[in-house]
Amino acid sequence: MLEWDELIYILGNYRLLNSDEIVTHITKYYNVNEETVRNDKRLMSKIYEHDFETRYINLPETSYGREDFDKVRRKYVKFSDTYYDMCEISEFMPKEDVHHIYPIVYGGSNHYKNLIYINGFLHSLLHENPREEYENCCHLAIDHLCMLTHNQFELVTSLQDANNDHFMASKLYKQRIKTKMWEFYSFLNALPKSDIGEPSQYISI
Ligand SMILES: [Zn+2]
Repeated sequence: MLEWDELIYILGNYRLLNSDEIVTHITKYYNVNEETVRNDKRLMSKIYEHDFETRYINLPETSYGREDFDKVRRKYVKFSDTYYDMCEISEFMPKEDVHHIYPIVYGGSNHYKNLIYINGFLHSLLHENPREEYENCCHLAIDHLCMLTHNQFELVTSLQDANNDHFMASKLYKQRIKTKMWEFYSFLNALPKSDIGEPSQYISI
């Protein structure tokens, strides 16, 4: 189960979305209306904590297809490197690939809201999504994976500190994320057909 604060943190710091995009994301993919979010002063202050206008410098307009992607990819990597501030996690999970959250093959765009610069291991996990053809399931999966990456990290670093074994900690970290991601995919897989494309209840309010 995701917590609001966690989700907002992830959307700001991992996905580099601005405040309006965070509100749109929450109302589009989770079962809550926009007014509820905008009227909640505490939530909105959390959302603004992760809002930086400079994130928009030199970002491409929406484009579709593989032809444009090389150009977009370079810009997105630069953008992400400039603003993504997760050095500790990068030590275990260096960023390697740019992933289309909603795949091009199903109609996903090259816009940065549909991209994430991510570690190769995490990337392969995303492509194991059994509901990859549904846009909302792809977004739920990326939110969940970012949340796991974030949550499990503290646990693994404490293990590393205790044992001073970087290799073991890194292996354990990946194993935990994989196991928990598969639990999440079982949840997606078990969704009744009528709920698959609908906003998810998968958040605690
Ligand atoms: Zn991909």
